[in-house]
Amino acid sequence: MENFKVTPWEVIGDVDYSKLIKEFGIQLIDKNLLRRIKKHTRVLHPYLTHGIFFAHRDMNWILDEYEKGNVFYLYTGRGPSGSVHLGHIMPWLFTKWLQDKFGVELFFQMTDDEKFYFKDDISLKKAQALARENALDVIAMGFDPKKTHIFSNTGIAKFMYNQAALIANRITFSMIKASFGLNESSNIGKIFYTSMQAVPAIMKSVITGNNVPCLIPHAVDQDPHFRIARDVLPKLNYYKPASIQCLFLPGLKQGGKMSASEGVGAIYTTDNIATIKKKINRAFTGGRGSAKEQREKGGNPEICSVFKYLFMLFEMDNKIISTIDEECRKGERLCGQCKIYLQEKIIHFLKKHQSQRERAKEIFDQYWVEEQN
Ligand code: SF4
Repeated sequence: MENFKVTPWEVIGDVDYSKLIKEFGIQLIDKNLLRRIKKHTRVLHPYLTHGIFFAHRDMNWILDEYEKGNVFYLYTGRGPSGSVHLGHIMPWLFTKWLQDKFGVELFFQMTDDEKFYFKDDISLKKAQALARENALDVIAMGFDPKKTHIFSNTGIAKFMYNQAALIANRITFSMIKASFGLNESSNIGKIFYTSMQAVPAIMKSVITGNNVPCLIPHAVDQDPHFRIARDVLPKLNYYKPASIQCLFLPGLKQGGKMSASEGVGAIYTTDNIATIKKKINRAFTGGRGSAKEQREKGGNPEICSVFKYLFMLFEMDNKIISTIDEECRKGERLCGQCKIYLQEKIIHFLKKHQSQRERAKEIFDQYWVEEQN
């Protein structure tokens, strides 16, 4: 891939998703699959109709099994390297929708060990504390407490290690080099790590003693982990995990993936109103140098981060989106108008999220799973 790079730890440049589909060997979500999903969900989530969840592996098989009564469970996760921002929330919103529509269990993995191996400035203690802190945002999404189990890799280390050892035994260093670009100078935690990320894909099967299909909703950068899991798990007599994959929410500044380290380029779930307004006011748009020029020549929503935030998170009404797009291109709309609209939407969303996040502290134990020493 020439102008961009996508790995589980790094997204650089403007991602060409059609090239990525070929490179990763994933499948586009087509009309037939949408029809099949709709048969069970009655309505389609706008993320499916907007093409934000755009690719998959084995979704048809998941639905075949579901229709036979072999019900899947969901697995997703978070690398706790800092505060949660809106880019993380996007796949969680969709995961919640899947849980509600199919009435299924969710296993949510906090990869505290991973962040320790991959981030020089994060101690293991810090990653463990962040895992619990980030779990508040997951709980705030309103997942069903009876069907949702949140854990960190070190918090259930005995279970995780027992399974990861079986998986690691089937993975060679050349597979790791080819999939992740790691090499002899990488610490051996990094090289081992993908075995830990594969474990939740068999978690319910291990717990129940039956082979249970697993569906993983995730951002497309995590696909290399699950490619390896799909390769190895059948050798241990488990199903290959299926996946449904989404685009990245761009940063407010430089495009590409919204990264937790971007600071002003990301809106965090704990940001206050003044900070949200400041960040959106400074966001990169497709507008012209002056209002006069914009009225004459029009703007470009395709490169505009404000437009993308509306399209991907805060304005799910296609008619309104089309109107904004058209007015922008014709010069009938100025960026200030869009920014105020987006600020109002974000503030409304985060006010509710922040109050649910406070309440999450009281109900934390209903979700969090930890081994006793
Ligand atoms: Fe973006 Fe709106 Fe400005 Fe167009 S008018 S470039 S959509 S902020």
